[in-house]
Formats: sequence, structure tokens, C-alpha cells
Amino acid sequence: MTKPKLFIPGPTHVEQDVLDAFAQYPIGHRTADYSELQAKVVSGIQECLYTKQSVLISTSSATGLMEAGVRNLSKGKVANFVCGAFSKRQAEITQICGLDQDTFEVEWGQATTAEQVEAALSAGNYDLATVVFNETSTGVMNPLQEIAEVLKSFPDTLLMVDAVSGMMGAPIKVDEWGIDMVLASVQKAWALPPGFAVMSLSDKALERSKSIPEAQKGFYFDFVRIHKAGEKFQTIVTPSIPHLYGLSVQLDRIKAEGLENRFARHHEMASRVREWGQEKFGLFAQPGYESETLTCFKNSAGIDLIALATKMKGRNYLISGGYGDLKGKTFRLAHMGDLNLDDINDVLNVLDEVIEEL
Ligand SMILES: *Cc1c(COP(=O)(O)O)cnc(C)c1O
Repeated sequence: MTKPKLFIPGPTHVEQDVLDAFAQYPIGHRTADYSELQAKVVSGIQECLYTKQSVLISTSSATGLMEAGVRNLSKGKVANFVCGAFSKRQAEITQICGLDQDTFEVEWGQATTAEQVEAALSAGNYDLATVVFNETSTGVMNPLQEIAEVLKSFPDTLLMVDAVSGMMGAPIKVDEWGIDMVLASVQKAWALPPGFAVMSLSDKALERSKSIPEAQKGFYFDFVRIHKAGEKFQTIVTPSIPHLYGLSVQLDRIKAEGLENRFARHHEMASRVREWGQEKFGLFAQPGYESETLTCFKNSAGIDLIALATKMKGRNYLISGGYGDLKGKTFRLAHMGDLNLDDINDVLNVLDEVIEEL
């Protein structure tokens, strides 16, 4: 491979047969052939998210859906739970969209817990709660099932989840857990090139969107419009057809591996990475909430992280420095998507050699 192999938390490594799928000749998007393709992709994603409710696809990055979510699902007040840079972005988006909101922030590196969500929702009157599943800036994986359980006592509060870097690296049982919307772009644990996003939408959330004025939702990201077109396996705009080709191939690959095996592989990689760096550097995530898809290390050894990343790139491996406020203080290694334990052992060996040279 001529380009550095990707061990950053997005975009991630893409397998050649998935890449090849993108190079197919396009089809017309108002044809039966296209609808057949979208139908296959949507039902595959439903299986991956353990849901019989709606799955919507979007030619946009995930941030488009983070914005769409708050605009489609709240006509009252939003509770934004923040534990790092991406969940903070969700709170900023909510504010910029002019929605009424409160932010509930924990120290970065800590998790958003069910207890915190329960306390916040009990004290206020919110019609939407936003939570990040896997906080990519800190390497924290929030206890989503427990948080969703809390929401069951608040039937008027919808639960919207940013699962961009967690979806397909750990299970998300949409119907059983009771998640109203979960979104992700495809360049993280889905292991496709960037430029496309997917989401689930509960029947309850669809009803909420129907009650929101169009002027708040806009056109491109109106869930009611997208859902209506989706019933005929169509989109309201010209979709990224190459991404549908890619998803179709990737869903076949996921089926062949098996969902449980996929999650077990992620757990195996995560355990190996944590074990490697726990002593040497220390983990940034609160113990018990370490991510299954990426690890954020503290720079407790005080090494030159820019030199580290540069030297790794020279060896054809891309790793990631800290994100936002954590730049220089942490570094991150992604272990998601289509990477496997051999890839992880390989990058860790090279990291050991490079650190020795620093
Ligand atoms: C990468 C990431 C995003 C942003 O996704 P885009 O596809 O770049 O819009 C949002 N949230 C989390 C948790 C992420 O990891």
C-alpha cells in the first residue's frame, strides 16, 4: 500500500473489495434497480441495529444528522449531555439552531452516567436528550443501554444518540433499548470512505417530526420527507450511489463475519491496545468506560507527540494526536472497522520501536 495505513478514528482503513465497489458505473436513482439496492442496504442496516423501525440514509457527513436530529425532534427544550469535544459540538449545534437547551457537562475523560441523566431529566422538562455513545476525543464509551433504560421513565423525552465512532464496533440494540434516533457516518467503524451517514428513527420520533414546522426542519434534512421517499426505497435528492454500492458489499462482509464476531473482534483489539499502553502511558478514559473502538492515552511519559506521529507516518502508519483541547496532552489509536488483531500487533510493535528512537 502506498498511502499510510489508517489507525486514526476516522477515516479508517477500507478493504480493497469495498473500495472496488465504489468504482462501479452509476445507475439512475429513479429506477427499479436503484430501489432494489436501497432496499437491500436499508434492511441490512436494520439488522445491524437490531431494529424493525425506520432506517434513513443521508448523503452528508454525520454532523448533518446531528443538526437534523435536534431540528426534527424538539419543540421544547433539549438536554445536551457533554463529555468531550463531539458531544460538546452537539450542544453547540443545538444552540446555533436557536433551540432552547441546557448543557450537562462532566470533566472530559469521565462518562455520562445513567444517574446523571436521571437527575437532569427529573429536574427539568425536556422533550429531547442527546448523548454520545463513543466520545472520540476522550476514548470514553458511555453506558448507552443503562442511559436508555432511564429514558423509559420519561415517555415525552426522546433519546438521540451520536454513535459515529461506536456503531458497528459494539452492539446498539435500538428497539430493545428504546433509542429514538441513532446516527453515524460511514468512515469510522463501518469502514467505508467518508461522505455518507445512516440513522435509525423510531415511530415515536417520526411522529414528533411530523408535528414540527417545516421552517424549523428545512427541506434537505426533513425526516418526514426522507422517510416518505424511503418507503418506496427512494431518496429526496440524488444520493451518493457509490456509497450504496459500498454499503451493499460491506453488509455482505459483515453478514459473513457475523455481528457478534465483529463485536468480539473489536473487544479483542481494544483489550490488546489497553494492555499495551496502560502501564507506559495511562488511559485517559474513566476506568470501566474505556471505548471498544479507540483508545486515548495520556501523555504521562511526556513524549514529543508531534515527533511520534511524524515518525509513525514515515513508517506508513497514521495515528492521531489529541483532539481539540487535548492536543499535545493525549494521543489516540483507533481499533475499529476492518482492522484485525494482526494489524494491531503490527502497529504496536512499530510504536514500540519508534518510541525507543525518540
Ligand atoms: C467523527 C465524529 C463526528 C463527526 O462526524 P462527521 O462525519 O465528520 O460529520 C461526530 N461525532 C463523533 C462522536 C465522531 O467521532
